[in-house]
Amino acid sequence: MNGVILFSGFWSRCLTHYPTSPMVSAMQWDIIIQQYPEDVETIQQARDIRQRVTHRIQGLDIPLLAAPLEHDTIGDLIPVETLGAVCREVWKEVLPAAPEVDFEEALLAALSGSEIPGMSPEEGEEALRIVLGAVVTGYFRRLRELNETIIPETHLEGSCPFCSSSARVGFDSESGRTLVCSLCAHQWQVPRVRCPFCGNRDHTTLGYFESEEINGVRVYYCLECKHYIKVIDTRIRDVSDAETGDVLTLALDERARQEGFLEP
Ligand SMILES: [Zn+2]
Ligand SMILES: [Zn+2]
Repeated sequence: MNGVILFSGFWSRCLTHYPTSPMVSAMQWDIIIQQYPEDVETIQQARDIRQRVTHRIQGLDIPLLAAPLEHDTIGDLIPVETLGAVCREVWKEVLPAAPEVDFEEALLAALSGSEIPGMSPEEGEEALRIVLGAVVTGYFRRLRELNETIIPETHLEGSCPFCSSSARVGFDSESGRTLVCSLCAHQWQVPRVRCPFCGNRDHTTLGYFESEEINGVRVYYCLECKHYIKVIDTRIRDVSDAETGDVLTLALDERARQEGFLEP
């Protein structure tokens, strides 16, 4: 739906989608490692990078906004120089070699959804994506936390009422369905029988599938616009953190893509 951060690659997909503040994010890293033991080093590196980035973002000056963000202008709000410096500092702490990359350019590329300046896997391409993702999502989460008062309370769409990025994950509970923004982590309530991407309310073209291996998570899809979203039922599955829920259910994204559905 929206290409604020169009990264590719397994961990970059998982780990750049969500914010990084330890005060509000409770990623269940141990469960993630259990599920993907072959990626343990990358996961631990990602955790380390995110903690360092979060710490620095907490110390930045964050603007107070007059209105929620428009998708087309979201890039204008990024203090590229400041965030580029954060990338550089974290990189120096975590990785042995200095990267041959312009972080400011890389941040802008990440935000616009274009190619990130080339780097080989040996030079740390995966780490670069993790650093960029952590910085961008960390910044927007903090921005949203400090601007909560301008966010409309009622919002039926699948794109965030604060930053206009798409939700990838939702939660079902006794009180209804909530979507979670993949960039700023804002949460909002939506109706269950309505596609949040095109507004379709016809139950004959709305459906879901689930997988036997992944209990308590359904992929809700719309045959009108072909989009899907993963919804975690908190009455069945004890995951309250959207990012963790997203990472643990990547097999469902794979299946949704195979069946011709489009990522939010
Ligand atoms: Zn948002
Ligand atoms: Zn739809």
